[in-house]
Amino acid sequence: MSRYEITVGIECHVQLSTKTKLFSEVDNDARGKEPNSCVSPVDYALPGMLPRLNGEAIKFAIRAGKAMNCEINPNSRFDRKHYFYPDSPKGYQITQFYHPIIGAGYIELPDGTKIRIEHAHLEGDAGKLTHFSNYSLVDLNRVDTPLIEIVSMPDIHSAKQAHDYCKELWRAMVYAGVTNGDLYNGNMRFDVNISLAPEGSDKLGTRAEIKNLNSFRSVEHAVEYEYERQSKLLDKGEKIKQETRGWSDATGKTTPQRSKEEAQDYRYMPEPDLPPIRLSKKFIEEEAAKLPTTPKQYREKFKNIIANDTLEILLDYKPLMEKLAELKEKSVARVSNLFTSVLLAEEKSVEMLNSLPTATQLSELCEMTEKKELSSTASKEVFLRFFDPDMKQKTARDIAKELNLLQENDLSALEKIVDGVLANPATKQAQEDFKAGQEKVIGFLVGQVMKASQGKANPSSAQEILRQKLKN
Ligand code: MN
Repeated sequence: MSRYEITVGIECHVQLSTKTKLFSEVDNDARGKEPNSCVSPVDYALPGMLPRLNGEAIKFAIRAGKAMNCEINPNSRFDRKHYFYPDSPKGYQITQFYHPIIGAGYIELPDGTKIRIEHAHLEGDAGKLTHFSNYSLVDLNRVDTPLIEIVSMPDIHSAKQAHDYCKELWRAMVYAGVTNGDLYNGNMRFDVNISLAPEGSDKLGTRAEIKNLNSFRSVEHAVEYEYERQSKLLDKGEKIKQETRGWSDATGKTTPQRSKEEAQDYRYMPEPDLPPIRLSKKFIEEEAAKLPTTPKQYREKFKNIIANDTLEILLDYKPLMEKLAELKEKSVARVSNLFTSVLLAEEKSVEMLNSLPTATQLSELCEMTEKKELSSTASKEVFLRFFDPDMKQKTARDIAKELNLLQENDLSALEKIVDGVLANPATKQAQEDFKAGQEKVIGFLVGQVMKASQGKANPSSAQEILRQKLKN
């Protein structure tokens, strides 16, 4: 069986979270709204209506470009891409074909591999069709939501790399603050083309394209599936058809959709209703400077404090990274542990991340744990209460008091409790066993102290006092 080298190219559409649409002043956020309620005359393509470019989308594109280490082109322009589809009344898409706003750059994967970006361009989204048994409904709310389409170079050579690239791209866009990044609702969609060539060959094979994947896992699985499918065909000496294939998460398979043997002619032409975009160097620099802290900068900042595996998990949560950055260094490790051990185990972790505790609450919790006023179990308990609507306004100390979680650190009080336990005839046998060299029995005695203190004693202090007393 021969072996093949796989090459993957990815085009990603990112919906920008601007206030209004790309070419009109209609609300760009249609979440939870009635179909066809966020539509301007421009989106309906009513006769005589003219598009007007949204300046915020330009600013977002600059930031997005910088987040991918890309050049920003001072001169760019829009073109018309003609095709008919019921969800785009204009009969063409306004996009950037010849002169995109974002030039070459790269995305760096966590392992340091750089995947080059060929370019990225601004364009308007299409509407949405919902198909029923014998009819379809059109919703134009999404028409001309600003998109940037990011085109990678053929630098990806495994399913895992395809997954990592998509994820890192998602992080770059989310941290740049240009998209809501909600994959489930299609805020980022991946078109993945996959080809195989004999190992060592300098030519790329015929590619199959899988459109509209909306999770990192589907990207990874679709690439794995295509590798298997195409290598089996090549082993049999068959040819790969150039075609678009659809992916089903349910079956884990790709199936043919339409063949692409001839390239479609979109009759690109310069968009006559929009002037070219000219950006001054100063304007580009000012916008680029607004790029918030990037995932890479967070990695750098926390690399000696948070374990690498943990950090890679936590990086999926931008608000959390912002919160950690507000904390003192020694609290960062503790809080990051709380998040991985508690938050990720909670079903509602996503909602919880939307209402994070304040830095003051978290810092106090860390200090109390460090001073052993709270056991590690108790600190988790207090931490969870920060997300409880009835308690979230309270300080760590108030919550600990209310739940009776403060540990007894007053040594003389603890000594009295220990004395009480040792005076209890029920512990007499255990004391003798310990004195006779049975180390394990200390656990039982500490347990008795914990019980007598109603769980508030600090177990290590209790053990220390017990040992001293039993020596005498
Ligand atoms: Mn596109």
